Amino acid sequence: MSLKYAVSMPVLAGNEIRYATEAMESTWISSTGKFVTEFERKLSEFIGVSGGISVCNGTAGLHLACLALGLKPGDEVVMPALTYIASANSVAYCGAIPVFADCDPQTWNMTKETLSSAVTSRTVGIMAVHLYGLPSPMPEIAEFCHSRGLWLIEDCAESLGASINGKMTGSFGDAAAFSFYGNKTISTGEGGMLLVADTAKREYARLLRGQGMDTARRYWHPIMGYNYRMTNIAAAIGCGQMEMANYHISERRRIAERYAYHLRPLVEEGLIAFQKEPDGYRSSCWLSSIVLSHLNPEDVAALEQREKIMRHLAEKSGVETRPFFHCCHCLPMYSESAPHLPVSEYLSARGMNLPSYSGLSEEDIKEISTAIAICLKDSKCFN
Ligand SMILES: *Cc1c(COP(=O)(O)O)cnc(C)c1O
Repeated sequence: MSLKYAVSMPVLAGNEIRYATEAMESTWISSTGKFVTEFERKLSEFIGVSGGISVCNGTAGLHLACLALGLKPGDEVVMPALTYIASANSVAYCGAIPVFADCDPQTWNMTKETLSSAVTSRTVGIMAVHLYGLPSPMPEIAEFCHSRGLWLIEDCAESLGASINGKMTGSFGDAAAFSFYGNKTISTGEGGMLLVADTAKREYARLLRGQGMDTARRYWHPIMGYNYRMTNIAAAIGCGQMEMANYHISERRRIAERYAYHLRPLVEEGLIAFQKEPDGYRSSCWLSSIVLSHLNPEDVAALEQREKIMRHLAEKSGVETRPFFHCCHCLPMYSESAPHLPVSEYLSARGMNLPSYSGLSEEDIKEISTAIAICLKDSKCFN
């Protein structure tokens, strides 16, 4: 059966095509143009901060965040093991060392408790990730960083619109980066946004983004920079997406709520678990996700069973699912410093992302939920 339900896809239902066409007709298709500044303004306003810096992708944003905060070769940065590889790579690009912490079994995020055991005398900063859109416990983590003299970066690639007691993710740390890759809550094709709280560091990041060229003196490069700019066409798409950001976020939240409703019997039977949203926390629900808690207690065996379940859902019901990320410390280039992080490894082997894009109807969610229930109760699916 061909796939009927993708895990995610961009929904360009607003002014995206109109604005992108306008950018092309104006011939401002490169990285100068009104949509770039407009998109930066819109995103900053949405988060409630000033001075957003658009970049060509979220990874570049994280890399610039590390550089702007002064990350040096040999420094250590503590981050969750259960995250997308870009979080770790952005630190490694600076010659620094990502040190991995475990996560909480309910929220799937790093906490002050799990990260503190990974801190050493070489630690200079913390990178918190809001996994699948659920905020990490930022007030506690920020307080910890403050008391230890550490800086704090938020990887907000998955958390546009998520908040804690009304305060948006991206506004808690010294810097933050968002991603607008095709499967994210809003998309510009490829794209990202960097936020830096300190104005001097922010200007330094802006300089780094544009080949380190002095803004007042053409072809004078006082520092080695990068070409990490976003195009005006991508920003035009972003302006259209931002006009509907609240729609896309509320869609993803609605979808998560309906999965929780339709799959509740499986939770009650102990077959699956959802990510737990603590009081006062508002997840962006980027991807609705479940953990198959009834699989083999051995992680390797569980991972194979999950593969079979995913294949079965795709082949029999046309439902695409995605496995959770491999833990960073289990990947070849980061396995040197491999501690055993049991909760992250448990979740990584059993987690599954479900179709979560804007416009998925109640009927669709019901059909997908039924397919999951049938599959999980039929042991032939995975034994
Ligand atoms: C998507 C993502 C990124 C990277 O974003 P790109 O725009 O693809 O470079 C970084 N961190 C996390 C957690 C992500 O999900």
